[in-house]
Amino acid sequence: MSRVLIVGAGGVGSVVAHKCAQVPEVFSEIMLASRTVSKCEAIAASVRERTGRTIAVEQLDADNVAETVALLRRFQPQVLINVALPYQDLPLMDACLEAGVDYLDTANYEPPHEAKFEYKWQWAYDERYRSAGRMALLGSGFDPGVTNVYCAYAQKHLLDEIHELDIIDCNAGDHGQPFATNFNPEINIREITQRGRYWERGEWVETDPLSWSMTFDFPDGIGPKKCYLMYHEELESLARNLRGLKRARFWMTFSDNYLNHLRVLQNIGMTSIEPVEFQGQKIVPLQFLKAVLPEPASLGPLTKGKTCIGCLMKGMKDGRPRTVYIYNVCSHEAAYKEVGSQAISYTTGVPAMIGAMLMMTGVWHAPGVYNMEQLDPDPFMEKLNKHGLPWVVREL
Ligand code: NDP
Repeated sequence: MSRVLIVGAGGVGSVVAHKCAQVPEVFSEIMLASRTVSKCEAIAASVRERTGRTIAVEQLDADNVAETVALLRRFQPQVLINVALPYQDLPLMDACLEAGVDYLDTANYEPPHEAKFEYKWQWAYDERYRSAGRMALLGSGFDPGVTNVYCAYAQKHLLDEIHELDIIDCNAGDHGQPFATNFNPEINIREITQRGRYWERGEWVETDPLSWSMTFDFPDGIGPKKCYLMYHEELESLARNLRGLKRARFWMTFSDNYLNHLRVLQNIGMTSIEPVEFQGQKIVPLQFLKAVLPEPASLGPLTKGKTCIGCLMKGMKDGRPRTVYIYNVCSHEAAYKEVGSQAISYTTGVPAMIGAMLMMTGVWHAPGVYNMEQLDPDPFMEKLNKHGLPWVVREL
C-alpha cells in the first residue's frame, strides 16, 4: 500500500488530489486534510465524479505539530505533500520527522510577520532528515520546481556550463476580473511587492520593486509581452548548485491593469502586513484584502488563454557558445476541463504529484533535504510529458 497525505485544500491542493487519483498504481490511498474540511469535501466530490475514486478527508490545523503527528500516525502515509501555505513548512517538516514520513512542498518557508523567504530555515533540517533516514523535497511546483529540473536537464544534456540563466514566467491568461491573483493573494502580493534581486558573479544585486523590465517574444502564438525582474526563491538554490553560473535572473509578466491596481492598493496601505486597529480589533490589511479578492480556485471556469514558463540558458557546449530555451505552454481551459482548476494551480499541482510519485517509487529517494536540481532530471522530465506538462527545447 502506498498512502499519500495532501495538506491544503486550495487551488493547488485540488489539482494534486485529482492528479494523484489518476495514478492508482502509485497512490493507492489518498487523504486530503486542511483547515476548512468543507473545502476538502468539495474536492473529494469532484475527484469521485471525475475519476471514480474515493479519497479520505480530515480537518487539520497544520500549525499544530502534535495534531499533524497524530494524523500521520493514524493514516501512516509514505509522503506528506504540503500545499498549504509557506507558513506551515516548518511545523509540517517537524511533524514528518517525528512521525517518520517523507515530506514535499512547493514553496519555501516564510515567517508570517516578515515578507521574506529563504531556504536557510529548511536547509537547517538536512542533518536531522539524514539521520532519521527521511527525505524532504523542497519546491516541487513549477517555479520553483520544473524550472530547477529544466536547469538540471540542460546541465546534464545540453550545456557543459550554464553561464546565464533567465527564468521567464508568463501568464497570458485572462480571467475577466478587474483584479485577482492566480494563487493565494497574500503570498502572491508579498512576493511581488518585495525588492527585486538577481545573482551576478557571486553576489546578489538589488533593484527597486518591478523597476526593471524587458519584452520577450513568447512561443505558441502568445507573442511579445513585458516582463518584470523579481526575486524568486529558486534563484537561491540554483546559484548554489549550477556549474559555472555567472548570472541568474527571474522575470514575470504583468499587465498594466494589474500593476495599476497593485500600485493603488500599495499607496493606500492595503498591501501592508502591519496590523491596524479596526473597530476594537487588530487586522492585517493584506489579510483583509485577501478576504475581499476572488478565491484563486474560483478563477478556474473564468480563465482563458495560456501560460508559458521556461528557462533561457546561455552557456558552453564542447567549447562552443550555445543558447537553449526549455519551456512548457499550458492552456487554462484544458486544465479546467481536466481537473476543474486554472493553469497556475495545474502547473503547480502536477509537479507536486510527480515529485511524490518519484519519491514513493524509490526513483528519487535519498535521506536529507533536497532542492529539485540536485536529483536526476530525466525521470521527472519523462513524467512531465506523460502527466500533462509537455516541454519543448528550442535552440536559439
Ligand atoms: P490557497 O490559498 O488556494 O490554498 C491554501 C490552502 O491551505 C487553503 O485551503 C487553506 O485553508 C490551507 N491552510 C492554510 N493554513 C492552514 C493551516 N494552518 N492548516 C491547514 N490548512 C491550512 O493557495 P494555493 O493553493 O494557491 O497555493 C498553495 C501553495 O502552493 C502555496 O504555498 C503557494 O505559495 C504554492 N505555490 C507554488 C507555486 C510554484 O510554482 N512553486 C505556484 C503557485 C503556488 P483555508 O481554506 O481554511 O484557508
